[in-house]
Amino acid sequence: KLFNELQELKGNIRVYCRVRPFLPGQGASNTVVEHIGEHGELVVLNPTKPGKDGLRKFRFNKVYSPASTQAEVFSDIKPLVRSVLDGYNVCIFAYGQTGSGKTYTMTGPDGASEEEWGVNYRALNDLFKISQSRKSNIAYEVGVQMVEIYNEQMSSYFVLVCKSFVLLDFHTLGILSTAQQNGLAVPDASMYPVTSTSDVLELMNIGLDNRVVSSTALNERSSRSHSIVTVHVRGKDLKTGSALYGNLHLVDLAGSERVDRSEVTGDRLKEAQHINKSLSALGDVIFSLASKNSHVPYRNSKLTQLLQSSLGGRAKTLMFVQLNPDVISYSESMSTLKFAERVS
Ligand code: ADP
Ligand code: MG
Repeated sequence: KLFNELQELKGNIRVYCRVRPFLPGQGASNTVVEHIGEHGELVVLNPTKPGKDGLRKFRFNKVYSPASTQAEVFSDIKPLVRSVLDGYNVCIFAYGQTGSGKTYTMTGPDGASEEEWGVNYRALNDLFKISQSRKSNIAYEVGVQMVEIYNEQMSSYFVLVCKSFVLLDFHTLGILSTAQQNGLAVPDASMYPVTSTSDVLELMNIGLDNRVVSSTALNERSSRSHSIVTVHVRGKDLKTGSALYGNLHLVDLAGSERVDRSEVTGDRLKEAQHINKSLSALGDVIFSLASKNSHVPYRNSKLTQLLQSSLGGRAKTLMFVQLNPDVISYSESMSTLKFAERVS
């Protein structure tokens, strides 16, 4: 009950923490995770302070152990995803240092089997299926868009690099203003008609492949850019004629690791500063919303500007906070957890 009241107070912001497993071949290393409770408790141990003094307790809406499956995670967020069909705007983020499992949660591992599908595929698949099944009452149109934000200030005019673009019935969706979303241009948009889930999945994979320079370059690059899949849904009630519009943003954020300023220079330093700036801008926006501040600083980054209409108001926000449990990552994990604690 208290928990629900708390949720009420905080508005529509949830924070789920997911601890990734140790990887095969990585060797069994020590974990910093001491305890995961059933009600979102997470206890972490500072490896340099073994004993009671090194314990730190956190509490989130949910914590997933390394054993949790993609299906389990999705079943928890399914209601949130489906609320898009009722006209809600929903943002789902994955936050954490590079290697903590953000892409795994959002997309799945490379060459994922259906069982390993991440949130993106499952959400699309689910939305498509449901919108088909309600067909006799409501006519749905679904559009999918993929965008990448890289180095806000690198491009002279716009900051958004649109890598690929997949849309169904774009015109009828009434989002022709995609060229101008929240005042931001989304260049290089290509449109593709799509009629089934498998079409969409195929196009999403083409979209991902389009980014490939070489796989190492891609890994490097994708850890430094925000990648955003947006699903636009418009439904028209066939009896009443009333229409509703909702969208779902699925965001794989740039790696949150702090970069040692003494070690990088030039472009790499600039990149790091942009990432830092946009992640703290996101934190500030979510924090302002959670604390019901009257001023929400959307304008401080391209990311928050693009997502403005889907953050706050009736919109629902979910942040997956990803953790690598290895002791080596302790200090990064702590800064991830502190970020999460601030917005939860
Ligand atoms: P990030 O996107 O945060 O850099 P990745 O999603 O690429 O991290 O994850 C790093 C590695 O860990 C990948 O090899 C990924 O397949 C693996 N991994 C992450 N989370 C899990 C998980 N829950 N179960 C199994 N493997 C995982
Ligand atoms: Mg990644």
